[in-house]
Amino acid sequence: MAGDKSFNAFEMAQTQFDKVADYLDLDSATRELLRECFREYHFSVPVKMDDGSVKVFRGFRCQHNDALGPCKGGIRFHPQETIDTVRALSMWMTWKTAVVNIPLGGGKGGIICDPHNLSDNEQERLCRGWVRQLAKNVGPLNDVPAPDVMSSAQHMLWMLDEFETIHGAKYPGFITGKPVGMGGSLGRKEATGYGLIYTVREALKELGIRPEDTVASLQGFGNVAQFAIRLYTQMGGKVICVSCWDQEDQCSYAFRKSSGINMDELMKITNRFGGIDKEKAAEIGYEVLPGDAWIEQEVDILMPCALENQINADNVNRIKDCVKMIAEGANGPTTPEADKVIEEKGIFVVPDFLANAGGVTCSYFEQVQCNMNYYWEKDEVLSRLDTKMTAAFIAVSELAKKHKIYMRDAAYVIAINRVAQACKDRGWV
Ligand code: NAD
Repeated sequence: MAGDKSFNAFEMAQTQFDKVADYLDLDSATRELLRECFREYHFSVPVKMDDGSVKVFRGFRCQHNDALGPCKGGIRFHPQETIDTVRALSMWMTWKTAVVNIPLGGGKGGIICDPHNLSDNEQERLCRGWVRQLAKNVGPLNDVPAPDVMSSAQHMLWMLDEFETIHGAKYPGFITGKPVGMGGSLGRKEATGYGLIYTVREALKELGIRPEDTVASLQGFGNVAQFAIRLYTQMGGKVICVSCWDQEDQCSYAFRKSSGINMDELMKITNRFGGIDKEKAAEIGYEVLPGDAWIEQEVDILMPCALENQINADNVNRIKDCVKMIAEGANGPTTPEADKVIEEKGIFVVPDFLANAGGVTCSYFEQVQCNMNYYWEKDEVLSRLDTKMTAAFIAVSELAKKHKIYMRDAAYVIAINRVAQACKDRGWV
């Protein structure tokens, strides 16, 4: 995970890239260009704290590639954020926007902080400070941020307000994931979780399995997991296990109910960071298991929806033989070592940058709506999202079948080819 010193997300992203670059026989200049970030910014953000002291936070923005359009990507707030995690995530954003075929590039930002320990006023000053450091290097036509782990619609609005104050005009397309009514798109909060389930639905069709005959276990209980569970259960699937990080104990717990979890009852005991109250969960009949027990459940589908490096060499062999599919809601949840084992086991993988592309696709819709200053109904947003996600899934799975390659590699082949071609067409390489 982000703070695990032995794990480097960027090295992992580069390893995945190198494998496909070899497969595609990319020339050395294109390889060199795409293995690194085009631009990156590292800076300090001094913040006046409520007690009158000043605390200095570290901030980052990486712009991996913008050959297909302005960079696009979230801003993560995490106490163990590292530049290499941000680099990796910005690279994955490039592949993500390319695989769903939207005219955007890849970027990512971060601030080393723990919003649990900051008041609302301190968070506002931190958001405004981040924008002040970057106001000339980001914007609707060059780099468009969005919320990510532990950052919210409110944070985006403070950032937008600061950007507009600096530039002296309204730029609603500067940032996405804004509150609805303040330039946000309906459907954005559902988009990543729903998008994940649109791909699960298509993958189940491919496997010839009915959703109502499946059972799933998820890691995470935040934005992505919650909406994924809602749509998956509407389709008839049953979730028997979810997990989350416990802020007090600084470890994770799995929450299991073999008859199927009940979202409404769990939501009542979940905080805004996706943390479930374990005492209350036990009172209402959940088994509370410490650690990563979510991975060893007897289910058909596993959906890692928390952080990177969660399915790795240490735990991959705990995946039960009955698991038929892994649909990656999180970014980079599976390490290359674990990936080999999963490929050998013949588990169908919906790879992260395809599976969780619903968020950025809806962010793109948000920008389009902002540019028109005309906003669509939620049904329209979600149906356009379904169309995009389904088309992207089908393109990847057809390529995987045609060339008899792993789904992750097929998704990379499509994405890297598109970006490499755009770099060539622009005359960069
Ligand atoms: P979130 O902050 O809303 O929720 C994260 C959840 O993961 C929380 O329930 C938290 O308790 C849990 N968690 C954290 N560490 C854990 C651990 N070690 N074990 C078990 N659970 C743990 O975040 P989110 O928006 O749901 O994002 C989740 C993942 O999806 C991240 O990898 C993010 O980059 C990715 N993603 C999010 C979006 C989006 O639109 N929100 C889009 C694309 C990708």
